[in-house]
Amino acid sequence: MAQPLFKRVAVIGLGLIGSSFALNVRHHGLAGEVVGYDESADVRKRARTLEIVDRVARTPVDAVQDADLVMLCVPVGVMGEVAKAIAPALAAGAIITDVGSVKGRVVEEIAPHIPENVALVPGHPIAGTERSGPEAATSGLFEGRWCILTPAGGCSDGDVERVKALWEALGSGVEIMTPERHDLVLAITSHVPHLIAYNIVGTAADLETVTQSEVIKYSAGGFRDFTRIAASDPTMWRDIFLTNKDAVLEMLGRFSEDLSALQRAIRWDDGEGLFDLFTRTRAIRREIIDAGQDEDAPDFGRFHGMLGEALQQEILQAGKAAEGFDKLRVAFDDAVKRGIIELDEAAAESPEGTKPQAKSKTPKQRPRGKGK
Ligand code: NAP
Repeated sequence: MAQPLFKRVAVIGLGLIGSSFALNVRHHGLAGEVVGYDESADVRKRARTLEIVDRVARTPVDAVQDADLVMLCVPVGVMGEVAKAIAPALAAGAIITDVGSVKGRVVEEIAPHIPENVALVPGHPIAGTERSGPEAATSGLFEGRWCILTPAGGCSDGDVERVKALWEALGSGVEIMTPERHDLVLAITSHVPHLIAYNIVGTAADLETVTQSEVIKYSAGGFRDFTRIAASDPTMWRDIFLTNKDAVLEMLGRFSEDLSALQRAIRWDDGEGLFDLFTRTRAIRREIIDAGQDEDAPDFGRFHGMLGEALQQEILQAGKAAEGFDKLRVAFDDAVKRGIIELDEAAAESPEGTKPQAKSKTPKQRPRGKGK
């Protein structure tokens, strides 16, 4: 176990990222104590039950008392108000940092509240999933990922080094850039792709000629991947688009132009143009794999396999007895290091002889690998 880098770390916001951060800091012994706070009493209770932090505080002010590192893990839209609330209680010499997915506006909103004897080192781990809440906390979430720090005045090189050392101890590589550059890069690599996913799933859901059950029944790999992204937290993503407006609109403009070019290529049977583009994009996928940011496995590295026969039967019997499930499927989502067991209802023959769509009920999840 590593030497503690901080005496007391306060984590404000105990959702996916805050809880994952707290859990991994504790796991690696990087802080003498990890104190957590979330606005939701229910989340505080769940975080306590899951032992995400050493202590759950009752107020944000209580959480940051004597903390030498304060990590803000709330939606970007409330970063400013949280900073304002905790500012009077921040200890002299403390570092305040965050995980917000947008940096320019967030820095603008936090900075005015930070006392002179406190350092602000904004950050953004490029790691996460479409899940929310403390139950989604994942061991090893930041391993092999990048964390971008955007120090914008008000902190020393030593402060930046301390935050850098923390993320490195969690297994992340650290890059330093300006908030503006961060927001532009993330607009194209993360924000616009999410907008496209929200849009395509919304369009499919609105189609009047195709019923929703057909969309789900015939969902092919591409559409399924979009639905996974489009299941991301609505509050978080609303805030991201509203706070990174300029960069997203800039990238969306370029995207629309390129989409029109593709539309034209299809209309005019420009097979060569389509082939060239798809060859270039395939090379980008290869570069991502070569950089160790994804796996070269079919279906984006998801594991589709079967459990041992005995365990399978045991789960099926329990499912049948409880809810009438009679099908079992196992998947592994490498991005979140979790196995998923899906139990489906019995599928009766329809009058046309085709099987109606199996209705998936309450997927059960179990952590895999390193555990919590
Ligand atoms: P999340 O799972 O929804 O967690 C956010 C938590 O903050 C929720 O429990 C929320 O409570 C709580 N909260 C909201 N307002 C608060 C306040 N004023 N004071 C204290 N707690 C408050 O979201 P997340 O995915 O962890 O995202 C948190 C931050 O990480 C965001 O800034 C996001 O941009 C960033 N981030 C996310 C990802 C990702 O993939 N998810 C990746 C990198 C960075 P309620 O549920 O009651 O609102």
